[in-house]
Amino acid sequence: MLHGVFFHFRPSLGFLSASLNNIRDAVTNRDFSKLRQQLGRALAAAERTAQSFHRSGPMVQGSFYLLRRKCGKPNCRCASGLLHESWVLTRSEAGKDRIYSVPDAERALIRQQAGEYRRYQRARAVLIKRHAQILKLVDEIAGHRLRVWPEKRPEPPP
Ligand SMILES: [Zn+2]
Repeated sequence: MLHGVFFHFRPSLGFLSASLNNIRDAVTNRDFSKLRQQLGRALAAAERTAQSFHRSGPMVQGSFYLLRRKCGKPNCRCASGLLHESWVLTRSEAGKDRIYSVPDAERALIRQQAGEYRRYQRARAVLIKRHAQILKLVDEIAGHRLRVWPEKRPEPPP
């Protein structure tokens, strides 16, 4: 058992002080084991998230959707509300929004591969959150292990 190990470096200052240390040790060890449990869960969650990075199929970057728009010609049917529809892939390239029309023959494939990319992006965002959580926990756990040394600041040289 790790009970009481974290404050044993402190010099004993008598019975009262020892009791206080025991209480503090109990609190510290409870927090410590809770933190370790949380770390275990966070690592398992990161592992589950990482499963999706084992996928190997191709993906294309961009958002795939049905674009509805007016062409601007005053006599066109779209002027009365029957908008033109086309499947497109949009993405930002070097800071500029690009839009590519997707040929009918490639629609199903691009839909699927843009979906793969969206899935990757989501998993990546979740991984960033999970890693931040893991780092926070390991730092907290390290904080519980830290002891003050030296306990007294050395006298400045005369
Ligand atoms: Zn039109």
